[in-house]
Amino acid sequence: IRPALAALRAELADLTIYQDAPSLRMHSRDFFWFSPVLKPDLEGKQAELIILPRDKAEVARIASACARHRVSLTVRGGGTGNYGQAVPLEGGVVMNLTRLNRVVSTTLGAGRFEAGANLLDIDKALWPLGQELRMHPSTRAQATLGGFVAGGAAGAGSCTWGQIDNLGAVIALEVMTVEPEPRLIELRGKEILKVMHAYGVNGIITEVEVPLAPAHAWAERIATFDSLKQAAAFGQAFTECDGIAKKLVSIHAPAIAPYLKRLGPYLGENKAFAILMVSEPQGDELDRLIAEMGGTVTFSRGAEAARAAAFGEHREKGAPGPLYEYTWNHTTLHALKLDPTITYLQLRFPPGRNLELLDWAVEAFRDDVIFHIEFQRRQGKVYHSSLPLVRFSTAERLHEIMRQAEEAGIQASNPHTWVLNNAGWKRTDAPQPEFKRLADPYGLMNPGKLLGWEAETTEAKTSAAKTTAAAE
Ligand code: FAD
Repeated sequence: IRPALAALRAELADLTIYQDAPSLRMHSRDFFWFSPVLKPDLEGKQAELIILPRDKAEVARIASACARHRVSLTVRGGGTGNYGQAVPLEGGVVMNLTRLNRVVSTTLGAGRFEAGANLLDIDKALWPLGQELRMHPSTRAQATLGGFVAGGAAGAGSCTWGQIDNLGAVIALEVMTVEPEPRLIELRGKEILKVMHAYGVNGIITEVEVPLAPAHAWAERIATFDSLKQAAAFGQAFTECDGIAKKLVSIHAPAIAPYLKRLGPYLGENKAFAILMVSEPQGDELDRLIAEMGGTVTFSRGAEAARAAAFGEHREKGAPGPLYEYTWNHTTLHALKLDPTITYLQLRFPPGRNLELLDWAVEAFRDDVIFHIEFQRRQGKVYHSSLPLVRFSTAERLHEIMRQAEEAGIQASNPHTWVLNNAGWKRTDAPQPEFKRLADPYGLMNPGKLLGWEAETTEAKTSAAKTTAAAE
């Protein structure tokens, strides 16, 4: 063990620290293996110490020790990211925040939570209060709120509430700096974007305050349709139907069905299908819309049984888990279990042209792409995003698909890179490097994920000097 790390370890000896080989491996990985491009590069990258702080005071001690001993620090929540976001490229400390999991406060319409709180646990705590998180990724059972803000995008609930980076989706973040004397900074409004989806390169998120939605009794449905086009038209109509409270509108091409084995009995032969969550009292209305648009309801689960399955309380023998665990990037997980040559892309279809462009994309990429689409309502408009399955051939082919999609007007966000600067439409419109210089002045946080931030310092200095010179 190198001297800096040994000194840090000695100083923090009373904290929970793991240094055994299985723990180092387990806490250094995420789901980067979804990408055949990332897998060979990230396999084997490991932390030298894993530390699990129990509270903010311990987080501050770790941050201070890393700053003083110049040891790199990578923050980890549930470790479910898909791009190696939580993989420590340069060793050092991985700080697992899952014990920082308290409910700080709740009021009608908002809740504040410690960043390591698990999303399902948060919803369990909110349920008796008649409230819930507006949205959660399909990894609700594993992911943390801090990890969702720092590395995620959307999920169940986005058909009503949009993406996590939409204005209003997060009320406040408390961020700790990595300095000898760590400071706490409260970010609100647009300021939040400085650390949103920044992979923890520019501050440790310690608390997250989010608006809450009224809890609904969410019933589940699967409906089949004769074609993807028909199912997508239904998905659009249902998402536009603002009078029906809904949590999930996920539409799948027939070729997805063989990968979702547990749902097999409900997916029919060569049918497209919709996976849906609807407010139970409005289920009949949804069933009428499905029938009107040529669909057939093949699975219907009442809200109490759906909640018990999601909360891990009870599930009828043979019944599927919560249906959101078959949508978003869970579809890729199920496909990969059966066919390791599958990977995926991230595409966002523009409102207004989304169905027309879906038709185009299905045809243009018919040889190697299988679509499922996730409807979202963002800023008053209906979009769909897609995490289509791709039969992997080469990295060049993935880039070619993204290039052609972009050219046609579909936005692509490359999931086959760990570098933030390449993250397509998920980039936030905020000065993240500038905030890094303030919150992480020694450049210790999650090294290798944000490129060029030091160079920008020099550039900024040069341009500032030029401006001063010009003014003089
Ligand atoms: P981690 O993986 O632990 O961390 C993610 C990033 O955030 C890392 O860079 C980490 O360093 C940083 N970070 C974590 N906590 C903090 C903190 N407190 N302060 C600063 N930085 C921090 N994503 C979606 O958006 N929607 C989906 O529906 C979805 N479905 C998925 C399905 C599967 C099967 C898988 C494997 C992934 C999916 N994801 C999805 C990606 C991922 O699960 C989510 O983004 C999730 O919210 C990440 O949370 P986490 O706690 O696991 O974060």
